[in-house]
This record gives sequence, C-alpha cells and structure tokens, in this order.
Amino acid sequence: MRSGSVMSEVSQTVGILGGGQLARMLALAAAPLGVRCLAVDQAPDACAGQIAELVQAEWHDFAGLEPFAHRIDVATFDFENVPAETAEWLAERTRVFPNPRALTVAQDRLTEKNLFRACGLDTPAFVPVDTRPGLDEALGRIGAPAILKTRRFGYDGKGQFRIKSPADADAAWRALGAHTGRAGLILESFVPFVAEVSVVAVRARDGDFRTWPLTRNWHVDGILSASLAPAPADDAIAGAAFAHARAIAEELDYVGVFALELFVSADAIHGQELRGQRLLGNEMAPRVHNSGHWTLDGAVTSQFENHLRAVLGLPLGDTSARGVSCMLNWIGELPDRDALLAVPDAHWHDYGKSPRPGRKVGHATVCAGDAGTLAQRLQRAARALGREAQVQPVVQALAAT
Ligand code: AMP
Repeated sequence: MRSGSVMSEVSQTVGILGGGQLARMLALAAAPLGVRCLAVDQAPDACAGQIAELVQAEWHDFAGLEPFAHRIDVATFDFENVPAETAEWLAERTRVFPNPRALTVAQDRLTEKNLFRACGLDTPAFVPVDTRPGLDEALGRIGAPAILKTRRFGYDGKGQFRIKSPADADAAWRALGAHTGRAGLILESFVPFVAEVSVVAVRARDGDFRTWPLTRNWHVDGILSASLAPAPADDAIAGAAFAHARAIAEELDYVGVFALELFVSADAIHGQELRGQRLLGNEMAPRVHNSGHWTLDGAVTSQFENHLRAVLGLPLGDTSARGVSCMLNWIGELPDRDALLAVPDAHWHDYGKSPRPGRKVGHATVCAGDAGTLAQRLQRAARALGREAQVQPVVQALAAT
C-alpha cells in the first residue's frame, strides 16, 4: 500500500475450523473490524467459501493444514467435532480459542455432564451405556421414558432414540448400538420440561465475562425451530442460568462465545426448589450458537462480533438486547424472502446452501420494542409465509408475559 493511503491494512487473520453458516456469519462480522477469515472444511463447496477464503482439507491432513496454521493469528471453530488431535496439533503452532480441553469436554455428553455437576449444575439422571445388557441395567436404574444418545457426534436431534417403555430397548439398540464401537452411548432420563432456554455467553482472554439476555428455544424433531429473547423468565431463573454459565466458563478457562442449553423443569425436588422451577443442564456448544443468531439484529453487539473480539483479545461489546426478538430457523428450504421483508424490523439471513431435507438453510429475525408488537409482526410474517405452526408457541409465550 502507498504511504498516506487511507485504506486500512488487514492486520489479523482468524482461522476457522469448519466452513458452515457459523463461519460464514463470523466472516461477515469480521470484515468491518478489518479482520480477515480463513476457513477450513472438508467440503469444497462449504458455504463460508462464498464470503471468506476456504481451504479444503481433511481434519487429519496435517500436511494440508500446515499452510493454514501459518497464515492465521488465531484459530477458532464453527464445528465442535474437530478431532482433539487436530486442535492440539494447531495449539502447538498458533493460539487456539476455545482451548482444546474445552472443546474435548464439550464433544462428549458424558464428560460434559460430569463437568456440569462438578460446577454445581444439576443434570437429568444419566448412565453411560456400552453393551446391550448395559442398556437394560441403565433402564433399570433410570426408568422410562428415557433417551438413548450417542456420546459424540450427535447434533440437531441426530444420534438419539426415545425409549417410551423398556420394550423399546431392542429397537433403540438396533438404531444406536453400532456407535459403541466409536464412542459409546448415554441413557438420560426424559425431562418433562416446561421450557428450554439457553445462555449465550462470551468470555474474553482477560476473563471479562458477559451474557446476552436468556433465550427461550423451541425444537421440532430435535432441531431448533424458534428462539425468543429476552426469554420471558423469572429473574431468579435467569440469574441462576448466568451463574452456571460463568462457573463453567471459568472452570474451562474458556475464551470466546459458547451456549449453555438448559431445561427449565417444574418437577421440583425437595430442597432444590427455585420458585417451583429448577434448571437442568442439557449440553453446551463450544462456539457461536443457533440460539444466539437473534443477536445479529436484536442486540447491541452480535455473538459473532463478540466471539471475534474475544479470540483476538479486543474489548468485548455490549450484550444488551435492543428490544424483543424472535429468530425463526429455515429448515430444508427457504420461504418467501420478499414477504418476510415486508414486515417491519424483519431481517433475512440466507446461508447460500442448497436446499435439502433437515438442513439449516437460513433464518429470519423479527424485532420489536415490546412483546405485543413482536407478536403482531410474527403473526403477520407467519400468515405471509404459511408458517403459523412455527410461530404459534412463540406468540403464546409472548401473550403470557
Ligand atoms: P440435544 O441434542 O441433546 O440438545 O437434544 C435435542 C432436543 O431433544 C433437545 O433440545 C430437547 O428438545 C430434546 N431432548 C434432549 N434430551 C432430552 C431429555 N433428557 N429430556 C427431554 N427432552 C430432551
């Protein structure tokens, strides 16, 4: 660049392991900061490649990853199932946030739940399962209904089998038993929750810790369908959720954004009542999270920007909500963009992915200054898009506030 030029030089490059929509939205947030993103993915057409430079490499292809490691100032993840060896190999060459231990703990539902309990967060009852007789034994201890899950590599409801009665054990084993060769299974008691909520939080390199307002989430077939923030929740519940997130982040010496997914359960246990409700830890995502996508349009600083600020050692931004926001996920295919854009304060996010059943291809966020206006806007959007069923539980929750 010529001296005296007003153009800024790109001074930092963030390497992202995984090139999906999370990497894409990180890259979109990076540009105004003067930060470049370099994503690495196994797929040559990963959607972050439309926004950032994409390197194609397998996770164990260290020769292919070597130039990537040398071009970046810091590495982070859009995908938590990067092998631990790869994260450790990278950490010998560059800074990696979150650290490989945090990633490894969050990759396995068993170590994750043990961590939650060690940090004082209760969880659904659980028993690791490695054999077919072990499943019967676990069912004897936990009872039905229960959910059998793969300990690793599960996402969006995949790798799960709901056991309604012990007679379902054979079918559950047929569906998931083969996974015991890879990483084992876990049987969890089925929680009759009154709500699912998540804490999206960020911790900086200097320990500064912030949370966005508590988010309420609705899932359909195990996939996130809608999120509402701030969640209409008791202050005591929100305060307890934030305290759990902070304790976990500090225990892991976590740097960056993460999400802690919680069940709000009404089946209070004697002595543990929190105004008739209590929180149970479901899982944590060691990365920016779908339930934090509303922050792009509904918060002062988005989860993507704050994740970049955290991993680069920059001051964190304000995590306050600007009003009330609802995020609607587009699964399988995009609805009518133009109809959504006709709704006031509605925002469209297309991930540039080809449609496929069960695939997250985009989302929209509808924002408003108050709950009543948000409910009206959501109903208008739902009618225009034919998405009444998706919006209905959110509108009901808003009406109850
Ligand atoms: P997960 O992949 O563990 O987050 O599970 C996906 C979804 O399945 C959750 O968001 C819940 O809606 C449901 N789910 C998972 N585990 C349980 C449980 N132990 N009890 C009740 N519902 C569950």
